[in-house]
Order: sequence, then C-alpha cells, then structure tokens
Amino acid sequence: MRHWLDVPREGMAEFFQTAGEPEYRQRQFFAWLHARRVADFREMLDLPATLREKLAAAGHLRVLTEKVLRRSADGLTSKWLYHTPATPSVGVSPVESVLIVEQGRRRRTVCVSSMAGCPLGCVFCATGGLGFRRDLTAGEMLEQVYRADCHARENQGEGVSHVVFMGMGEPLLNLEAVLAAADRLGDPQGLGLSGRRLTLSTVGYPEGIRRLAEARRNWRLAVSLHAPRQELREKLVPAARRWPLVELFQALSYYRQASSHAITFEYCLVDRVNAGVGEARELVHLLQGCPARVNLIPLNPVDGFSGRPPPPPVVRRFQNILREAGIPATVRMEKGGDINAACGQLGGEFLAPTPDKP
Ligand code: SAH
Ligand code: SF4
Repeated sequence: MRHWLDVPREGMAEFFQTAGEPEYRQRQFFAWLHARRVADFREMLDLPATLREKLAAAGHLRVLTEKVLRRSADGLTSKWLYHTPATPSVGVSPVESVLIVEQGRRRRTVCVSSMAGCPLGCVFCATGGLGFRRDLTAGEMLEQVYRADCHARENQGEGVSHVVFMGMGEPLLNLEAVLAAADRLGDPQGLGLSGRRLTLSTVGYPEGIRRLAEARRNWRLAVSLHAPRQELREKLVPAARRWPLVELFQALSYYRQASSHAITFEYCLVDRVNAGVGEARELVHLLQGCPARVNLIPLNPVDGFSGRPPPPPVVRRFQNILREAGIPATVRMEKGGDINAACGQLGGEFLAPTPDKP
C-alpha cells in the first residue's frame, strides 16, 4: 500500500479522479497531509467519512515505527530511532532523526536521515559502521520532519523552523528522493520552509554537487571536509579516494555560480589527527579565494574508533587560526550528549548487540 507522503500532486489527482471525487477534495486532503501534518484520518474533519475510508484503504499517513524516543535532561534535544517497514531485500532498517531546540527556543531544527545506514564508511561515524541498508523514500524523509514538527508543537508551542539533511546517509547519493522531499518542505501550501532554512550536508560527492547546482534550488550546502589534504582525508573519509579534493573543489566552484549562499565546511576535530596548527594553516590555504564558513565539531566518541575530541584549548587554537585569516569559524558542541544524539549512534546501539530491544 502506498505512503501518502510519497504521492506527488499528479498521483493524488489521479486517485481523486478515479474515485469520482471533486478537485477541491484533493486540495483539502493535501492540506491535511502537508500543511496541518496530521497523523490520523479521523482528524480530517472536512472530508466525508466515506472518502476518509477510501483514503485509508488506499494508503498510509505514517509508515515509520517509533522504537525509541529519548529526550535530553534539559528537554531541548529529542532523538528518535524508527524502524522502516520491512522490504523483501533488507527487512526492517533503523532510521534516526533528532530535534534540537536552540537560541532561546527561536530555532527548532530537525536533523533527518536520507538513508537507513550509509555505504561510505567514514571511520568516526557510527552510521558508517552500520553499512548501507537502503535509500529512504521522500515520504519517509517528510515523515521524520512532520513527526518532529508535531513533537515541537506539543512541547515548544511552535513547530520545526529549520531542516538539515545530516542524519544517517549521504543525501546526494539519494538525490531524486531528497529533491522531492525538500521541494515539498518548501511548498507554500505545505510547511513553506524557505531555502535559507534547509541544509543538505554531503561527504563531498562531486557529481552530486554538480547535479544539485543544476537543479537550481538555492538551499544551503554543507560539505564534510575533515582534512585539508588528500592523504589525511582518505584516512578519515574512505570515499575521498574516489572523490579527491581537487575534484571536490572544482565541483564547488561550479556550485558557487548557481547559489547565493556561502558554503559551510564541516570539520570534525580528532585529537592528534587533524586538529594541529599545521592542519589549521593548511585549511586556511585550501580555502583561500573560496568564500566559506567552517563549522568545527569536536569528535563525538563512537565505538569502533579510537580517536578522541581535542581538549578545548586545542579547539580554540584551531578556531583562532581560521578567524585570524578572515574565515568565519564556529564550534558546534554536540547537543544532547547524554542521549547519544550524534549521527548513527542510537541506531548502532539499538542494532547491536540485541536487535529487538524495545
Ligand atoms: N553523509 C553526510 C550527512 C550525514 S553525516 C555527510 O557526511 O556530510 C552529518 C555530519 O556528522 C557529518 O559532517 C559527519 O562527518 C558528522 N559526524 C559523523 N560522526 C561524527 C562523530 N562521531 N563526531 C562528530 N561528527 C560526526
Ligand atoms: Fe555516511 Fe556521512 Fe557517516 Fe560518512 S559521515 S559514513 S558519509 S553518514
């Protein structure tokens, strides 16, 4: 049975025509799905009961099963572990999303997954350790946003204000579904999110960056760089062997012509690996002539990787070298550390060693 959040307008029109329903009914249904984001057909009060039954028999409003919802002690971070419906090839798969409330509650950001697992295996990433299960559909991505939105409305009084594709998976390797989901988030008849409030984070897949440039969407782009030179980057990000820094920066200069937003580089700091004065200076050199901001993320320790986050003075020293060179650099402290809010961690914890722990 279909997931209604996956169905584009045309598909919906077809259903309403076949069911002999007038066109305005379709608009009402669309508003329940995407503007009000309800999870239950019974709430669709302006639709006749017979139509609600037909819609329920033809598709689902939610397909993800909530397995775990954890909230940090301060209540500002919530993290979900869902299970996807089973598919014949991979069965059920874990999917995570995180809601982070910041800036005196003015910013309510949901971090969504674009895949269950990830094929790229970055050494410090718990999702990478899980391996690839499957691509998520556009509807499964929207569902993560809508569920977090509902939670934010209940607990913070206001819904989601920002969406980042920074959960499990590489969004540019599932670009078609990500485009469909992100377009729907920007739909003025849905959530109506402005492009400034939507960020895609990529490991740095050059072909995907070019395709995104050609799609002309003007969302924000974050690139997970993690090292200023090829050989060091390959150690942290195995995919860098296939997608070298030179090609990445060529793709970024192409992208820059299409977008008005500065690119953000994410740089996960690992003590004694990529956080020294030498790396900071090399990074300054690499980013010369490329308007960008840098987001420094002290490593969030994960099982299976022996690296540690650098002590705070080392983080500050790295940040200062960038700032003195005129590169805006912020330090992102991991939110919700007490609930394993970092990428892939809850899924990893959940999958191994006891796969069916509630
Ligand atoms: N695949 C995309 C988006 C998901 S990962 C990408 O790599 O950009 C989102 C961000 O979390 C990336 O910058 C990633 O490097 C970072 N990340 C993953 N594991 C981390 C960890 N243990 N500590 C700190 N940052 C981590
Ligand atoms: Fe995949 Fe991103 Fe994790 Fe790397 S950091 S394994 S690209 S999710």
